[in-house]
Amino acid sequence: MTGRIIKTLSGFYYVATDNALFECKARGSFRKSGVSPLVGDIVEFETTENEKGIIDEIMPRKNCLVRPPVANIDKLFIMSAFESPAPNTYLIDKMTVIAEFNNIEPIIIFNKSDMGDFSEFSAIYKNAGFKTYVVSAKENIGVDAVLSEMTGCVSAFTGNSGVGKSSLINALFGNNNIKTGVVSEKLGRGKHTTRHTELYALSGDTYVVDTPGFSSLELELNNYELKEQLEYLFPDFSDYLSGCKFASCSHTKEKGCAVLEAVKNGFVEPTRHESYLRLFEEMKDLKSWESKIK
Ligand code: GDP
Ligand code: ZN
Repeated sequence: MTGRIIKTLSGFYYVATDNALFECKARGSFRKSGVSPLVGDIVEFETTENEKGIIDEIMPRKNCLVRPPVANIDKLFIMSAFESPAPNTYLIDKMTVIAEFNNIEPIIIFNKSDMGDFSEFSAIYKNAGFKTYVVSAKENIGVDAVLSEMTGCVSAFTGNSGVGKSSLINALFGNNNIKTGVVSEKLGRGKHTTRHTELYALSGDTYVVDTPGFSSLELELNNYELKEQLEYLFPDFSDYLSGCKFASCSHTKEKGCAVLEAVKNGFVEPTRHESYLRLFEEMKDLKSWESKIK
């Protein structure tokens, strides 16, 4: 049988299929190979008795994060609010970079549209080519569009405490069979000291993963490979990279840089390039041997 691991607890893996949940053990061979099953993994398993089973094989992963330990996230919803705290383009851009690096689609959400005008921010991200949603979890505005974006995917939400992640999840799935209380608690205020990752099925193959806020994912920046790829992790630069005069152009200050030219001419958003410069600066001293081992 094939299913998806939605939870691990005390050495058991809980594998969901379309209509049941199986409590599984992993075959001993996994331990030897050093690959251990993760929440989010699609696995082949053999049933034993009473909805119990043994995992035989882990299907190839689309991606796999270390913090939180989870595999196969399709979409990262990067959420900001109009105030408390206000949108921070650098934090948003940093998350888009981490998402792109991990082969996760970044999607931008501005919540609390009832409190003000986000058009300036949403224009930046639309121009940069990202799917961008302006919503109000409180007044249930724009929430359906987010729901259809999530359908059939494994989604994670990230954003500072207070931006309305729990409110949005509740607005999305309030009447569903999901344990909203638990999700609110987990997605909420970061009171929980235990890092416990779990996927919640919202319907059939639609899942949401509880994710700690911005801070935990920041660790992913300490990665030499990411540093090396930085220019490619800004999809809005891709049309210009080949136009730079020097092949080794860092797109920071060089003469004949097509990216800088595109910023000047309004084809690349200045705040996106500012974030690039800041990330470039932050990572410039990172050496290959300092890179976090995945
Ligand atoms: P979280 O920490 O990201 O999970 O944020 P919460 O969902 O706990 O929301 C933080 C605060 O913002 C709460 O007081 C919510 O009632 C409020 N809030 C959430 N969404 C909205 C919204 O769309 N509009 C307004 N005005 N307030 C909201
Ligand atoms: Zn350049």
